[in-house]
Amino acid sequence: MPSSIRTTRLPGGDDVPVLGQGTWGMGEKPIRRTNEVAALRLGLDLGMTLIDTAEMYGNGGAEDVVGEAVSGRRDQVFIVSKVLPTHASRLGVVTACEQSLRRLGTDRIDLYLLHWRLGTPLAETVAGFEALKAGGKIRHWGVSNFDTADMVELAGVANGKNVQTDQVLYNLMRRGIEHDLLPWCRERGIPVMAYSPVEQGVLADDGRLTKVADRHGVSRSQIALAWVLRQDGVIAIPKAVTPDHVRENRAAHDIRLIPADLQELDRLFRPPSGKQPLEMI
Ligand code: NAP
Repeated sequence: MPSSIRTTRLPGGDDVPVLGQGTWGMGEKPIRRTNEVAALRLGLDLGMTLIDTAEMYGNGGAEDVVGEAVSGRRDQVFIVSKVLPTHASRLGVVTACEQSLRRLGTDRIDLYLLHWRLGTPLAETVAGFEALKAGGKIRHWGVSNFDTADMVELAGVANGKNVQTDQVLYNLMRRGIEHDLLPWCRERGIPVMAYSPVEQGVLADDGRLTKVADRHGVSRSQIALAWVLRQDGVIAIPKAVTPDHVRENRAAHDIRLIPADLQELDRLFRPPSGKQPLEMI
């Protein structure tokens, strides 16, 4: 019997599973829809009840897939979606959110993120998020692809400290956030949401992981995921449509890496020695 998935607490008090499901690439081809819905439902059955999506993915198609996957079980799911920076004005976020809600077939988004930063003043976007919160359309808001300086600036605008997460690229090959962004968030109790935790499948084929994977009798991808999940305050959102990948990802949660594994992985995938600008996919 697998353990239940560990949770982490958002600043607003919600406990969310540290292992969720991504949806980038879903909702693009009608022929794949049945499999995508089935994969998300399998993940929900296995306890990966946080689903990450965005209005950008499949031009709304991914939100549509999520809507079908959660229908009849909405209350078991923590839905994260994202607004495009071109919709990040005070009124733009409200309109974009209403459209996302329609596609998701729900009356609220649990966590609504600014997908990345462009020209709109942060104060304006935050004001839009706060209005959505007051109206019950979102429960919380956060950001994505924000580097440390962006987070500092955000904390300085009205209600900016209500941010619940920063969703960023983080995996064995992209460790830059360990230098400053991750400690900055941790000190403030803000969990980081790690996207592309298996580097879009690249780490599944990376021979450097074979030895540790063999030691545990698991796949390379599972080691990559277990490594992201090894620490508190990090939520991983792998995307998988292949049912065996969904099951593997769930099982990766239960892998306990030992100090010798971590030392070997540090040797093969070096931690940052100084500040690195935040990378994005
Ligand atoms: P990812 O989760 O690192 O990798 C997904 C790819 O890896 C898929 O091709 C998947 O194949 C494969 N895969 C998954 N589990 C596997 C396993 N156990 N063994 C072997 N292969 C496996 O990459 P991602 O989709 O870029 O990132 C995850 C999620 O983060 C996205 O879906 C999205 O929700 C979010 N994201 C956010 C941003 C942002 O700017 N905020 C950017 C990128 C991603 P199958 O699908 O065939 O199973």
